[in-house]
Amino acid sequence: MEVLKVNDLSKVYNSFKGAKEVTALHGINLSVRRGDFVGIMGPSGSGKTTLLNLLSGIDQCTSGEIFIEDKNITNLSKEEMALFRRHSVGYVFQDFNLLDSLTISENISLPLILDKIDPATINGKVQELAAFFEIEHIQNKYPYHISGGQKQRAAVARALINDPAIVFADEPTGNLDSKSSKNIMNTLKKINEERNSTVFMVSHDPFAASFCKRIIFIKDGAIKMEIASNGDRKEFFDRILEAESMIGGELQ
Ligand code: ADP
Repeated sequence: MEVLKVNDLSKVYNSFKGAKEVTALHGINLSVRRGDFVGIMGPSGSGKTTLLNLLSGIDQCTSGEIFIEDKNITNLSKEEMALFRRHSVGYVFQDFNLLDSLTISENISLPLILDKIDPATINGKVQELAAFFEIEHIQNKYPYHISGGQKQRAAVARALINDPAIVFADEPTGNLDSKSSKNIMNTLKKINEERNSTVFMVSHDPFAASFCKRIIFIKDGAIKMEIASNGDRKEFFDRILEAESMIGGELQ
């Protein structure tokens, strides 16, 4: 089943204080199926963040269409978009963004609390996710009392609490050392493989990208190349480096 469909998407940032307008994306067509694990790579300024912001409803496109599970999200009002994001999209932020004033279980359940879901239902979902991510024992602790790996797993659990159609991840290994990078990528791989979660990640990191099933390379706001994994992560990593050198420029 198709979870995300993008037709001829473009984004032009208007001129501001004398600066010229910028065409950040043009002619983007994409199709993502349930259970896919897609990585977006490209040089700095190629349009990765813009694409993630459009697909996750943070910003509006200039032209084109975006469908998530058959719902056209292109022309939603601000209020409709806020609801849609809360109900249908999961988001893993670069720095995981757990709120220090809330316990881990409160952090995980926040989207449902905002939606006024009844406490018993919320508790059932939190317990199921806490067991899946092996963080039951730290549910009542605060983020500053738990390890980096536990924070990562809590952040991914929070992204799944609303049973989203798709989980967006923004440079999840951006500020991490190699051990922590491996942990978070294994966590995303686990939700993809064991829960059939659809993951759409932006990254400049070939190691992180090697966990994906498909990688789409963008440059100058357009798709230049796509490669698919055959399941061998080392081999895929080498092909990612090759693809990077083919499209040219440092991917950062
Ligand atoms: P990436 O994430 O690949 O580094 P971005 O999506 O951030 O690329 O940027 C794509 C292009 O759009 C760049 O030329 C950038 O300068 C421009 N851009 C991004 N955000 C804005 C904005 N809010 N206003 C004007 N130009 C922007």
